[in-house]
Amino acid sequence: MNELYQPIETLAGVGEKRAAKYHKLGIHTPYDLLFHFPRTYIDYSKPVLIADAENGIPCAVRCTVVQKLAVAFVRKGFTIYRVVVTDGISDMLLVFYNTPYTYQAMKSGEEYYAYGKITGGFLRREMQSPQVQKVGSAMLLQPVYPQTTGLTSAMMRTNIRRALMYLEQQPVETMPDSLMHDYQLIPLVDALRAVHRPESAAELEAARHRLAFEELLQFQLGTLMLRHRSSGQTAVSMSESVSMQDFYDHLPFSLTSAQQKSIQTICKDLCGSKPMNRLLQGDVGSGKTAVAAAAAAFTAKNGMQTVLMAPTEILAQQHLHTMTEFLSPLGIQPVLLTGSTKAKEKREIKKQIADGTAQVVIGTHAVIQKDIDFHTLGLVITDEQHRFGVAQRAALAEKGGCPHKLVMSATPIPRTLALIIYGDLDITLLDEMPKGRLPVQTFAVTGGFRERAYSFIKSHLDAGEQAYLVCAMIEESDTLENVQAAETYAETLKQGAFSDYHVGLLHGKMKPAEKEAVMAAMKAHEIDLLVCTTVVEVGVDVPNATLILIENADRFGLAQLHQLRGRVGRGAVQSYCILVTDSKNEDARERLKIMSRTTNGFAIAEEDLHLRGPGDFFGHAQHGMPPLMQAAFCSNMPLVSETQMAAKQLLAFDPELKDPAHQALRTAVLQLFAKNGENGLN
Ligand code: ADP
Ligand code: MG
Repeated sequence: MNELYQPIETLAGVGEKRAAKYHKLGIHTPYDLLFHFPRTYIDYSKPVLIADAENGIPCAVRCTVVQKLAVAFVRKGFTIYRVVVTDGISDMLLVFYNTPYTYQAMKSGEEYYAYGKITGGFLRREMQSPQVQKVGSAMLLQPVYPQTTGLTSAMMRTNIRRALMYLEQQPVETMPDSLMHDYQLIPLVDALRAVHRPESAAELEAARHRLAFEELLQFQLGTLMLRHRSSGQTAVSMSESVSMQDFYDHLPFSLTSAQQKSIQTICKDLCGSKPMNRLLQGDVGSGKTAVAAAAAAFTAKNGMQTVLMAPTEILAQQHLHTMTEFLSPLGIQPVLLTGSTKAKEKREIKKQIADGTAQVVIGTHAVIQKDIDFHTLGLVITDEQHRFGVAQRAALAEKGGCPHKLVMSATPIPRTLALIIYGDLDITLLDEMPKGRLPVQTFAVTGGFRERAYSFIKSHLDAGEQAYLVCAMIEESDTLENVQAAETYAETLKQGAFSDYHVGLLHGKMKPAEKEAVMAAMKAHEIDLLVCTTVVEVGVDVPNATLILIENADRFGLAQLHQLRGRVGRGAVQSYCILVTDSKNEDARERLKIMSRTTNGFAIAEEDLHLRGPGDFFGHAQHGMPPLMQAAFCSNMPLVSETQMAAKQLLAFDPELKDPAHQALRTAVLQLFAKNGENGLN
């Protein structure tokens, strides 16, 4: 019997409660657990001097205990334990709240590694709730697992250690021999052991290489398989002979040449017998909606229907408004179908959709995907704003009747990577902004400048404009810590600097309806200053918002900063973006300078790729990718190309991965592209 595939409860130390928590993470067996990768590592191997530590950034310090201070009982249920330590040059306090264990274990005169954020002033610096390891006994690279309530990294380390024992007793290999050999990959067993219990940075690197290779390979196999499937289908083809002149004549502006070119490409696709599968990538504000409207007009002139799906109700309404402006002069009246459409009206609209009188249907994904009967559906347009996932692509590929498909995405991705991430789609770039836009003026400043920035913001609020203040304090978006930070920040501003203004709050832990209500209030100018975590990326158009201030700007990738900045600069008034950072890190400063220099999203994405490697593009949910844990650490483009080559090689001989040697890969690919339990690729 192989313990690796038994229920997770069978693992020593895992009871019913902990098992339930593991199940929530999709971990059901010890084998699954081995693929729950560390988010990062505490690196005790490079301790810094207390004096050199940057405030608020986690670091490791090697220190000796000078004195254990008396336990302070502040009030019932609140006890503070403090230890004075020295690194030989300066002192600091280690502070533990309500947790006596580490304090009790530490001994005067002994040496420890302490890891955490150092705060406090010049006179007395302190590290709160640090992780402490005795020097000599420590794993120098200690894995830290993704945060989950009730499951600490320490528990996971213990459980994983046991699972690794099972694996070593009965080794498993998921990669075919040929690939192992051709690409010189280390065995899975070694890689899993090293990623969970690295003995050196070099060993960890080799493990990550192997695991990243595998993740990227699976991803690319999936995209290529999607493309292969759709290539066999036929679509209803349209006729090129319809005239689009009246559409152009009625537009309130003249199209950019990028818009013209994309419209031509799309109409050509629509006239082919192969279903279009195209991604229209254009920076925020590049005018994707006009292109969508042209495609819808072309489809209507060909006697077929278009459906445009938006991720939220507000965006659907926004689309209805714009599309009506562009299409009604041609006698085309778009209809709207969302969750809040009244039952009676819904019946009426459904009837119009079924009998073909509704030529253009706009709505939210959820509503439109459910039981709607089209008369002759010719074109499906999906507006994904920022995220466009593989699950959606798999779902699109599945859609019956084979309409043409156009996906609009506002995330600029470097061309080289886009070809891989969206390997199943043809790509069109809208890489030109409409004329006459005022580029957003961007400044990078230190925290000392904050008060002046507030005054600057206030002067604009007084002029009737609106502002965003983004305050994700740590990298991962919308953890509880971020939400609390945003709440506290909003409260402080309400009581203090902005007490004369309407201050709103938006964060990722709010329910969708609450979020929409806040955004609607922002749109209606019932809010002057909106304090938010990064959820503001979800893309609502508030042309009156002219200012965005981003705290801890150095913690964001360039692409993400660019997305955030795209919230302003949407009207005729000059807009500003203020990036606040106290980082002394050279790279961070260089990145912020790039932001000040350019407003072209594609140029910025290229710089990001160059500076941080491709990992960011695979690790962030905002690109719509499934989180590829190890690929997120990948810093070299060659690995990405290599895996694409490998995927093509494999599929050339075995397009559906039916060969028994490819069984493990096939299962993994299906899982990666699965949606709500059903296999999009099956
Ligand atoms: P996005 O690509 O972000 O979806 P939109 O389609 O919402 O951009 O367009 C942004 C704004 O620019 C809209 O107000 C739209 O009417 C306007 N616009 C689009 N194309 C042009 C153009 N060629 N010239 C001037 N304004 C344009
Ligand atoms: Mg748009």
